[in-house]
Amino acid sequence: MIPRETLEQIAAANDIVDVIGSYFPLKRAGSAFKALCPFHQEKSPSFTVNPQRQRFHCFGCGEGGSVFDFVAKYESVDFPTAARRLAERAGIKIIEEERSPAEDREISLRKRLLAIHQQAAEWFHHLLINSPEAKQARNYLRKRGLTSEIAQRWKIGYAPDAWEAFGTWANEQGFNREEIVQSGLVSLRDTENPQSDFYDRFRDRVMFPICNDLGEVIAFSGRVLASDPQAAKYVNSPETPIFKKGDVLFGLHKSKRALIEKKSAIVLEGQIDLITAFEAGVQNVVAPQGTAFTEKQARTLKRYAEEVILCFDADEAGRKAAERSLPALLGLDLGVRVIELPQGEDPDSLIRTQGAEAFASRVQAARDYFDYQLDVHGADPDFATPRGKVKFARALAASVQLISDRLLREAVAGRVATRLGMALSDFWAVVNRSAKSSQFSKPSAPDAKAVPAVQLLAATQPIGNLTLLALGDPEIRRWITAQPWSARLLEMDGAELLVKILDSDVSLEAPASVAAFSASLDEASQGLLGALLRERLPDDRLAAARDCWSAIEKRDLGRRREVLLAQMRDPNLSASDITEIQKQILDLQKLITDISRPLSPSNLE
Ligand SMILES: [Zn+2]
Repeated sequence: MIPRETLEQIAAANDIVDVIGSYFPLKRAGSAFKALCPFHQEKSPSFTVNPQRQRFHCFGCGEGGSVFDFVAKYESVDFPTAARRLAERAGIKIIEEERSPAEDREISLRKRLLAIHQQAAEWFHHLLINSPEAKQARNYLRKRGLTSEIAQRWKIGYAPDAWEAFGTWANEQGFNREEIVQSGLVSLRDTENPQSDFYDRFRDRVMFPICNDLGEVIAFSGRVLASDPQAAKYVNSPETPIFKKGDVLFGLHKSKRALIEKKSAIVLEGQIDLITAFEAGVQNVVAPQGTAFTEKQARTLKRYAEEVILCFDADEAGRKAAERSLPALLGLDLGVRVIELPQGEDPDSLIRTQGAEAFASRVQAARDYFDYQLDVHGADPDFATPRGKVKFARALAASVQLISDRLLREAVAGRVATRLGMALSDFWAVVNRSAKSSQFSKPSAPDAKAVPAVQLLAATQPIGNLTLLALGDPEIRRWITAQPWSARLLEMDGAELLVKILDSDVSLEAPASVAAFSASLDEASQGLLGALLRERLPDDRLAAARDCWSAIEKRDLGRRREVLLAQMRDPNLSASDITEIQKQILDLQKLITDISRPLSPSNLE
């Protein structure tokens, strides 16, 4: 436990504006500071930092608190760990009374892992510059136009062609076995047995340090030198306590400022592309570690930039790879533009052969993703037939559907429809059919984003509970879909998320499926989903689902009855109309009474 006085001292030494500002940029707004909230998805900043009170608060998601709360939440650590990090930042020594041995271990391991990475980066770099063994590596870098100054700025290094060089070095530097193994810089001979011998993971490779936002080395990517066709071109660090692959954007610690200035981010595939572009003066660049964008990476980017520029290789494979990033990017309403590179070129080779200006002018001329698709494929003979045109429209519609902001989505749909020479209503029909929840999606439904999730939950009690049950239990989902659910739910306010869940295969058992599902939702539904994920499932789920269901049925029937009663008040009704409506009201009344009657064993199935 950290003594109260020490906590006060730490808080006083860590101005909340400085601390938060070191994670992402804050903009002054009167006496406060604003930013896009890191804790929820939003398009206009509602995350506010108040320097007077030393508090932050998000008017969008309700997160808020002290500088400790911020660090704890942002870094996903507990309060004491957050306090310790802030103490370290301010150079304050904590004389602690008691700390759990597990906490102690976790903190010191993290610290040691950062240290081993930092020192390893220096060591690999030293070898690159000085070791005779690294001659081929130096030649390789020179050929790629990476000078020794550049190598120094990016701490590029060389891992020797040996099985035990790194392990021996790390041992000599005083790192123990656990630290060396946990760093991921070695591989175990027997992966099942943590006590087995280990060997260097990176051998005879050019080493690129991967840094977090703060510029601390947390992993490496090693490029092969030998022309061994068996060897992977790149070997990356495995995930470790300090490195999660899907969280990191290579180069971000250096390119942040340029991203903010240009409001746009050029996405490059590899480390060398990125370094070459950055050093040639095109600095608003990031590389998502060789894979498609994760939602987390897209969110990070969204804090710095409004649009993303993808480089499409002229070949089909390159284009497909870039397109895999679209769901994460369009789903967060980032603008997407496309640069097409000449056949056989990548950004690195283009810059080296034709100069940074050639690349920069292609960036300048980058076309909107949808325009690009229309330009490139619009003239395909495949799409000349009416059938081909519908096929093309469907492919574009699938991407349009990813845009979560309604106004933006409608604007894009309008533009695409015009260029396809289709009526907007016909294009919408395709959009709606291409969406998974097809006939149920209502593109013109009002945006409910202003309503906080918790309020939404309370207002839709039985629906909220049923949504939770459907999300948490596949059994219950099957039970609901066996009910006449579409008749009840499709027109009911607040049931949109439930309908989407019933229509999907999202499962709490697979967190990745929840993440992907969540990315497909609008802000309001995401908030609701988040609130639901904090709820506990009841014990007797089927009974709970039955209760919710009958409440929903009652509500739906009640609403229909209201409508009929309102119709009755129309003075122009004929006598036969009145009789007909009265009959319907009686029918509804009977149904409502039936539902309200407690279940007897005979009407249980
Ligand atoms: Zn927020």
